[in-house]
Amino acid sequence: MSAEIIDGKAIGAKVREEVGRDVAAFTERTGHKPGLATILVGDDPASEVYVASKRRTAGELGIESFHHALPADVASEEVEALIERLNTDDSVSGILCQLPVPDHLDGVHLTGLIDARKDVDGLTPLSAGYLALGREGLRPCTPAGCMVLLAEAGVDLSGKHAVVIGRSNLFGKPMAQLLLAANATVTIAHSRTADLPAVCREADVLVAAVGRDRMVKADWVRPGATVIDVGINRSDDGLHGDVDFDAVAEVAGAITPVPGGVGPMTIAMLMRNTLQAAEMIAREGAVA
Ligand code: NAP
Repeated sequence: MSAEIIDGKAIGAKVREEVGRDVAAFTERTGHKPGLATILVGDDPASEVYVASKRRTAGELGIESFHHALPADVASEEVEALIERLNTDDSVSGILCQLPVPDHLDGVHLTGLIDARKDVDGLTPLSAGYLALGREGLRPCTPAGCMVLLAEAGVDLSGKHAVVIGRSNLFGKPMAQLLLAANATVTIAHSRTADLPAVCREADVLVAAVGRDRMVKADWVRPGATVIDVGINRSDDGLHGDVDFDAVAEVAGAITPVPGGVGPMTIAMLMRNTLQAAEMIAREGAVA
């Protein structure tokens, strides 16, 4: 293997440690802890695990957590009223509505009700707008985590060609915006892209967020390129990314593994966003 392995586990731990230190300083300075409110509708086991892990990490870093578990058949009005209440609750710095929500609810509508200053997932239209305009705001956790991985791997993005495979609102689009803000030349590829392997071969930095097991092959990758694998695909033979890791690691200059690459960054960045939200609110005064 020739590629440097970008160790998301170690980098995620470092971010969490920094956030823990900064949370302690914030609490000392203001006399109150940052607070993260989590909303979980229904009893989807994967979502329960994700939310439990977010709450546990918050507790470890000195962030107060407020959990709201709602029944699967809860009325939209009830979730809306809860979000409105949390928006004006001074002990809550960040609000997270775990997606997906049950079919009778509209996840985009609900997350859109979160005050942008408390939008720690960075997914509301206002947060997306701030990102597009290059204004201060909370950035979506997984793409922000990829930017930290690239920085820690010493990748200077200025003038580099970055190719992002995937154009979801959750990942692909904000990832492309963050790369653009870092002065990369950005191509967004998707399911209609013609000759995807050729497009990928143009990349100095290749980011794959598709959800297709080991789709990106070694001959799609320019020798020496940096490869960030966001995909999480479970199959009978284990957990794999969107990148054919073993073969691509022979060609790439640096690569993230799955697991242990992008995954650990998401919660770390959520914690960083919660602290950032608390700091923004403390600076601007109480939420109206
Ligand atoms: P998504 O909403 O399903 O989007 C997938 C994107 O891939 C779409 O833009 C789609 O194109 C594109 N695509 C599908 N098939 C393709 C193909 N054959 N060639 C080129 N592009 C193709 O998924 P997502 O939410 O962005 O997530 C993507 C992956 O990242 C998933 O495996 C997910 O589990 C993982 N993920 C991981 C984390 C983490 O914390 N590590 C966080 C978020 C997501 P169209 O738009 O044309 O349909």
